[in-house]
Order: sequence, then C-alpha cells, then structure tokens
Amino acid sequence: MSTLLSVDEATERILADFMRLPAERALLIESLGRVLAEDVRAETAIPPFANSSMDGYAVRAADIGGENTLLRVVLDIPAGSPPATRALDVGEAARIMTGAPIPPGADAVVPMEKTSQGWNAGENAPLADTVVVKGSVSVGDSVRAAGEDISAGEIALTAGTLIRPAEMGILSALGVALVPVVRRPRVVILSTGDELADAGDALEPGKIRDVNSYTLVGLVTTYGGIPIRLPIARDTVEDVRRRFSEALDAEPDIVLSSAGVSVGTFDVVKLVLSELGDVGFWRVNLRPGKPLAYGHLKGVPFFGLPGNPVSAMVTFDVFVRPALLKLSGRPDALPTVNAVTGEPMQSDGRRSYVRVILKREGDRLVATTTGTQSSGALMSMVRADGLMIIPETVTEIPVGTLFPVRLLRSLE
Ligand code: AMP
Ligand code: MG
Repeated sequence: MSTLLSVDEATERILADFMRLPAERALLIESLGRVLAEDVRAETAIPPFANSSMDGYAVRAADIGGENTLLRVVLDIPAGSPPATRALDVGEAARIMTGAPIPPGADAVVPMEKTSQGWNAGENAPLADTVVVKGSVSVGDSVRAAGEDISAGEIALTAGTLIRPAEMGILSALGVALVPVVRRPRVVILSTGDELADAGDALEPGKIRDVNSYTLVGLVTTYGGIPIRLPIARDTVEDVRRRFSEALDAEPDIVLSSAGVSVGTFDVVKLVLSELGDVGFWRVNLRPGKPLAYGHLKGVPFFGLPGNPVSAMVTFDVFVRPALLKLSGRPDALPTVNAVTGEPMQSDGRRSYVRVILKREGDRLVATTTGTQSSGALMSMVRADGLMIIPETVTEIPVGTLFPVRLLRSLE
C-alpha cells in the first residue's frame, strides 16, 4: 500500500507535469479574462496625433499677451477632421473641438469660456471672423501630445497579462482585433457512483444527488478552464470504461473524476484506471481529502478526487487549481490573507483546511469555524469566507493563533 505523502510533495510531483498551453487568437470582444500569450507592441503612438483636450480655439501661445488679444479665425476643426492643410500664422486662431488634431503652427488651445465667444460657440454655432482671448496662455495648454499615453514601438502589454476591461481598451486603441491568448485548458468532469442522481432526475430511495460535478464545473470555470461535464458513470466496469473513453475523446488537458479512489477499497473505477494508464493511489497528509488518485490516462493528466463534496472541493483547490493556473498562465482569482483564530481549535496533525468565517476586528481578521467540519457537509463551504490552513503536526490551537486563509470570496 502507498505511504503518506505530504501536501507539498504531492503538489510538486503534480506541477512537474504541467506547462503553459500554446497560444490561440481570440476576438477582442471575447478576450476578457484571458491571458496574453505574447507581448503587444504599439505600432503607432497613442494618441496618434496631438489633439485638443477642450472645445475652444487653437492658438500660438506667443501671440497672446495682456488682458485681451484679438485673433483672426481662419480654420474650423471638428473632431475626426483630417490634419489641417494650412498652418496658423501670426495673429491667427482655429476653432477646434475636443479630440480634433492641433493644426500646424498652433501650440496651445484656449477653452471657449476663456474667449469672447463664451460657452455657446461650439461646432454648431456659426464661425465668427475674429475671437478675443482673455488672459494669458502657455505652450501646451489643453493639448494632448502625440504618444502621451503610449509611444510608438513601446511594449504596451506584456505576455502573461490578464486581460481586464482596461487592457481590452488598450488592445482596441492599438488595433489588435484578434488577440494572442493562452488556450484555455479543457477539463473533463466525471462523477461516478450507483448512488448518484442528477439534479433534474427523480430521487429514488437510497440515492443522493450528484453534487461534485456541479461544484467542479464552477471551480474549473472560476480558474479559467473549459468544463466538459459527462453523464454520471455507474459502478459497472462497462459503464465506467465507456465514460472514461468518452472523457479521452473530448481531447482534454485534464480529466477529473470524483469518488471511488479510497485506498484499500475495491472499486470498478480503479480497475478501469489501471487499464487506461498509470495512476497512483495516494494517501495525502491532508484533511479533508486524504485519498487522491493522480496519474495519466493515455498521456492526459488525471485527478481522481475524493467523493465527499467538501473533500472534492478542497483537493481541487490544493492540487487542481495550481495545475490549471500553470496551464493557463493566469494569476490566482483570490488572494491568501492572514487571520487569527477566534475560538480554540483542534487538528489531527494533518494539514487541515478549516472552513472559516472572517470578521474584521481593528486591524486583524478573526476566524471562527462554520460549524460542522464533516467532509460531507457542503454548507460549510457555502458559509465560509475562506479555508484556514492549519499546518502539519499542529493539534491544539489556542485562541489568537495566526494562520493563512485562502479566500473563497472577496471580503466586504
Ligand atoms: P467514495 O469515494 O465512492 O467512497 O464516496 C465517498 C462519499 O462521497 C460517499 O458518501 C458518496 O456517496 C459521496 N459521493 C461520491 N460522489 C459524489 C457526488 N458526485 N456528489 C455527492 N456525493 C458524492
Ligand atoms: Mg462510491
């Protein structure tokens, strides 16, 4: 039989099998949440030309002096205009709208309200022959320089960047309509067991609903994967064989199953796994979630998670999440924080993931348990703000002990 593996050893063995997936192109409109696979270099500057940040008059700052300066209005430049074909000469001004290109010769813009035209002289008003500028003007006033945001040739976004709304905007500004992104990992999810019924099916006496494939679909999606949920496999060799063969037909990057992997029990799942590849049945020094199967089925990484719903979610978080993040190059969805225990706790010397509720008290976070920590009691996950990680060998935990907590939701 297998020996007890530490969580760190198990994680190290698993992660050695994963590397970042290759790139593919995504439509910009669908790129939110994806990871850039390549650096994105700006072909052109942003903004591409000097433009006005106000509705007003483009002027030569050197022309303006004293309280009132009279200028001749020789151009009208609405937004979207091509560059002016004539430069401003001494004593000349151009009416200009926000975002329109600064004409050659001009080096500043005077907002409407600082001229004799006042507020109401926008692009729909008739163009006056002259304008009086009130007060003084400095070079560069109300002008957005070309390249103020990004200069031409600059790397604007680096490979590995998570695409958020702001990055989508930059990609659009740079004209990247097809974005090079890391391919999303395809993850097959398979529940096994004669006792299981699907959420929409009638529940016969002695049966329970399949919980794990839904929590796993949610987790895979949260961490950037594409979940592919298969029908429940029954506890017969033929059915389990058929479902695993369907699993491999889906061209997955990972196959996840739950239940049937406890060490020492006979289960048809184990028999079929031994036909398909090389799978180890591990006992990990972890609570909940001691039994874990890991290996390869025809070369595809396979995780056999425990059947108990909390154990399945915790082992996903501990082992599958880091593998998915490594495949997709994504940063983690939620951080780990530190909190102190708000009640005495016990552990059994395994590394334990305790479901806790967090409360802010001054500058500390205080953790209390969510009630029963039974590995079948999934409401402990629903109520929890996070998983408090009690290290190996610790058994008695006095109030006020500091431990890391992996958040399950953002606080406040
Ligand atoms: P096993 O690993 O097959 O011994 O299952 C351990 C426990 O988890 C048993 O109580 C199963 O009924 C339960 N279980 C297994 N698979 C699921 C599932 N997909 N959803 C909910 N409970 C499950
Ligand atoms: Mg079973």
